[in-house]
Amino acid sequence: MRNIDKYLSLLDGEVDGLLLTSRYSRYYGAEFDIAEGVAIVTKAGCRYFTDSRYIESAEKGIRGFTVKMVDRENPYRKLLNEAIADFGVTVLGFEEDYLTVAEFRRYEESLNAKLVPFNEKINGFRAVKEPWELEQMRKAQDITDAAFAEVVTRIHPGMTELDLQAELIYCLYKNGAHGLSFDPIVVSGPNTSLPHGVAGDRVIREGDFVTMDFGVLYRGYCSDMTRTVAVGYATEEMKKVYDTVLKAQLAGIAATRAGVPGKEIDGAARQVIADAGYGAYFGHGYGHSLGMEIHEMPGCNPSGERIMAENMVASAEPGIYLPGKFGVRIEDVVIFGADGCEDITHSPKNLMIV
Ligand code: ZN
Ligand code: ZN
Repeated sequence: MRNIDKYLSLLDGEVDGLLLTSRYSRYYGAEFDIAEGVAIVTKAGCRYFTDSRYIESAEKGIRGFTVKMVDRENPYRKLLNEAIADFGVTVLGFEEDYLTVAEFRRYEESLNAKLVPFNEKINGFRAVKEPWELEQMRKAQDITDAAFAEVVTRIHPGMTELDLQAELIYCLYKNGAHGLSFDPIVVSGPNTSLPHGVAGDRVIREGDFVTMDFGVLYRGYCSDMTRTVAVGYATEEMKKVYDTVLKAQLAGIAATRAGVPGKEIDGAARQVIADAGYGAYFGHGYGHSLGMEIHEMPGCNPSGERIMAENMVASAEPGIYLPGKFGVRIEDVVIFGADGCEDITHSPKNLMIV
């Protein structure tokens, strides 16, 4: 099914048009990524508006929409109202999660149609990926794996977290990243107990854990992975915590398949950590969905009631964080299948001493 047909299927009741303002919904509907623009979807026709910076590529790449250029004489509101009149639209569903209050007010004042919040329906389709989306995500993850293989050879005592972050970002781009899916997390030693710590001036030393959590954008799709490595050596306690996190992740992955709620997957991993006596030190959820955005719904966490479906994509990232000491997180990305899942992160997971 083409994505535009999914959008058209929303037009049978509450709304007779969709106003697509976010880059995500426009990319999804047109199956072509344009940084800026606005699109309108109706059963009578679909139009896509963008400015002179993007018009040439929009005209070449966009399918299913009539492309029109905005300029000073033809601003968005004028072109949208033309479409509203031509297609007889009375109620437009819009993406309330992606408009500022000021933007919403401007649309509300200028458009000759009623606006109703419709984000959950418009962007809800994105949870289950099409085969072409899965291909982009596998490629994004491959780039991330290749960068990891390279960056581990560059870790050495004496460099700072910021030095390592710079090396990591260089390796990501050198291996084909189009962008970063989020600011990487690079923490070392006692800072590894901060699940989302920020790289700083701390100098990496022998006996440290180093945690790197990073991902790229590839054709607008995100990857995400975390590896924790030891520098020089690891103490018995470090090894025990690492093994527990790895066992927890493998238990979560073993429980991952379509037809189960996210909380069941989280629970399988959480149980392993609790049984090892570290239950109090795993505060965050086991996994989040991802796609065009790094954090999407649904989540695999203790309140994840939603039944997961085939071709959803989520992270598998348990962790143990011992305040003042160290922390460990291991993260892969998996694609949900009918009887299991495909782990699309291929970097090694046994404790690496660099
Ligand atoms: Zn991550
Ligand atoms: Zn993640």
